Amino acid sequence: MPEISVKIKDGEAQTFQQGITAGEALKKLVSNKVRKTTVAAYNNGVSVDLSVSMTEDAVLEPLVMKSKQGVEILRHSAAHIMALAVRKLFGNDVKVAIGPSIEDGFYYDFDRAEPFTPDDFELIEKKMEEIASARLPFVRKEMKVSEAIDFFDKQGEKYKVELLREMDVETVSTYQQGDFVDLCRGPHLPDSSWLKAFKLLRVAGSYWRGDEKNPMLQRLYGTAFYDKKELKKYLNQLEEAKKRDHRRLGKELSLFTIQDQIGPGLILWQPRGALLRKLIEDYWKDEHYRNGYELLYTPHIARQDLWKTSGHLDFYGENMYSAMDIDDVKYQLKPMNCPFHIGIYKSNKHSYREFPIRWCELGTVYRYERTGALHGLLRVRGFTQDDAHIFCRPDQLEYEIFNIIDLNLHILKTFGFDQYDIYLSTRPEKYVGSDEHWEMSTEALKQALDKKGLTYQLDQGEGVFYGPKIDIKIKDQLGRSWQCSTIQVDFNLPERFEMTYTGDDGLEHQPIMIHRALMGSLERFIGVLIEHYAGAFPLWMAPEQARILNITDDQYQYSEAVYSRLRNLGVRVEKDLRNEKLNYKIREAQLMKVSYMLIIGEREKGDGTITVRKRNGENLPPMTPAEFAEMVNSECKEGTGETN
Ligand SMILES: [Zn+2]
Ligand SMILES: [Zn+2]
Repeated sequence: MPEISVKIKDGEAQTFQQGITAGEALKKLVSNKVRKTTVAAYNNGVSVDLSVSMTEDAVLEPLVMKSKQGVEILRHSAAHIMALAVRKLFGNDVKVAIGPSIEDGFYYDFDRAEPFTPDDFELIEKKMEEIASARLPFVRKEMKVSEAIDFFDKQGEKYKVELLREMDVETVSTYQQGDFVDLCRGPHLPDSSWLKAFKLLRVAGSYWRGDEKNPMLQRLYGTAFYDKKELKKYLNQLEEAKKRDHRRLGKELSLFTIQDQIGPGLILWQPRGALLRKLIEDYWKDEHYRNGYELLYTPHIARQDLWKTSGHLDFYGENMYSAMDIDDVKYQLKPMNCPFHIGIYKSNKHSYREFPIRWCELGTVYRYERTGALHGLLRVRGFTQDDAHIFCRPDQLEYEIFNIIDLNLHILKTFGFDQYDIYLSTRPEKYVGSDEHWEMSTEALKQALDKKGLTYQLDQGEGVFYGPKIDIKIKDQLGRSWQCSTIQVDFNLPERFEMTYTGDDGLEHQPIMIHRALMGSLERFIGVLIEHYAGAFPLWMAPEQARILNITDDQYQYSEAVYSRLRNLGVRVEKDLRNEKLNYKIREAQLMKVSYMLIIGEREKGDGTITVRKRNGENLPPMTPAEFAEMVNSECKEGTGETN
């Protein structure tokens, strides 16, 4: 038998007989310790099963449990095992669609007449455990597409057949486990015994291929970890997340409402939510003004021709709402603010001396989202971007990016986020603009990140077609990641709109344009804030900083006077002067996450003071309303970093 030479990266090559499996070869190449955590392998960079036969010289790398792909393989394999369990329990009438791993877990879509119930979950989990202890291997087989179509057709697997018919390849691979054969690329765990810690989470309706015209399938969600402790931690976190769900808290705290009569994905801000939003907006505007930005306001609709020029109609049309006729001219709702800011730019001539121009706007845009994708404040159809556009010269780009990152991180920190992951995305395959421009601006983004001393992940080829970008994902209290900030260089729009400025050489040049959103959108960001703080906002953005609670009707007048006095002193105060027991009123204020309760009885009335009770139950010594206002205001200044 011919021999092949296999080595691990930076290791010494060893000779093996051709046909040896990757798993066997790795046994010789890596330590026992590593091998025990190896679930698959990279064969010349391609991920493969450990059972794959090696046919040529190769660099082999162990694919270990703790790697991102190692976890994906576990979860994806768990989806197969779940499908096998469902088949064993409910028979071959259940048709299977697709079953990928996703962030935090996996799912499988089933076509079954009966709905899955919580009782079924237990049965399925039990069956999966049985399968796991049976140590069933995943047996790979390659076949021609036509063969595979025949095979799955005979089994009545119409979804697999549909997928196969659309494939533009000659051969596909199937994996058999027990008597269940699935169409899959792999790789998988060596066998089912690796599945030790898993849990079925929920079932949801899901249209085949996400299309509402297709049959509704049942999507079973689950998660899996290599370690039982990690699973437990994750399940606890899910419980905590449920308690913090912004849709639930939004209702309980009267922050916002979404109503069918108005339309899905459209947010109605209730007074408390509106106040919260105003506080965030005010802070945002002030902070931008301090950092050399100017504020813009632009309309919500524009002529369709504008969207043709900007390219939105071509590239983004399916996210835009249909046109309306105004005086026989077509108009459309804006999905983005950029062309309007360009319009303002073009309303004057510009010279290099004016640069950089930094313009910001809390601009409300409208984008189509499928009904099924809508989710509270996080996924909506009308939302307000915290948008900004910077126009500058090439030599200013790096500093501007540095500045944006600086402001960005500062504002995020004020909101309580100081953990984040940063991604730098570079030129994709299809792009506009010159190579020189791309290199220069990618370099500027890198330099700015380096100068800030920030670590980032390079996403090669993941940039937008019009320029490189930086994305910042923030981490909340529960360690969950949220994509919020994005900084994008754009060579496309300045070209399309023929934007110019006069350089120091007296000639016309094209400015560099940067798009930037920091929170992403107010809706989404507030959704994240609600969950981050579980509704108990820091004092500076709390819509209700204090609530006055009188003990009896005898303090009614005095309470009213304190209320007016505090409002005048800038405290966001409410009053609960109902003829109810004090404890009852305190409990209600606590449920509404009010920061301070101001209790007024006969003594306070006599002394001209208030007794201040913190949300956690701690009482402060009695103080005058003026003293309280001063305390609140200085605590707020500290919160927004305005102390010095
Ligand atoms: Zn698979
Ligand atoms: Zn823009």
